[in-house]
Amino acid sequence: MEAILVSACLRGIPCRFDGRHKASPEIEEAIAGREVISFCPEVAGGLATPRRPAELAGGDGHDVLDGTARVVEDTGRDVTAEFVAGARRALVAARRGGCTEALLMPRSPSCGRGVVYDGSFAGKLAPGDGVTAALLERNGITVRSASGV
Ligand code: SF4
Repeated sequence: MEAILVSACLRGIPCRFDGRHKASPEIEEAIAGREVISFCPEVAGGLATPRRPAELAGGDGHDVLDGTARVVEDTGRDVTAEFVAGARRALVAARRGGCTEALLMPRSPSCGRGVVYDGSFAGKLAPGDGVTAALLERNGITVRSASGV
């Protein structure tokens, strides 16, 4: 079976903005028997843990990659460069590992697929992909969103 790239926080690595993780038996079951590459794009992009929450502003991850949207923290600090750098490193890791598929954390401005927080920092969701999910998809890697987290 081919290797799969998985959001590191889903594998028990405490790399979320709040210093926690999102491991679950359901995730381990979903990837059982696969070669797994655990990866956190935000840490790889140079951000600390814990860190301020960040959301997409003015579009989704595709728009960020196209230069028409940004990623900002709740303080207003622009972290677009770190998010794009992390996405590029995720793509490199996926290619090196021979991954054709990724299982990523839902709703995240990096890892979200199909729906992401809308930039209001009010817990509201909007259609779209995170920056890493968008870059992986653009490069032929099938991105699935983990369920139940
Ligand atoms: Fe890192 Fe993605 Fe998990 Fe956020 S959702 S902590 S970027 S692996």
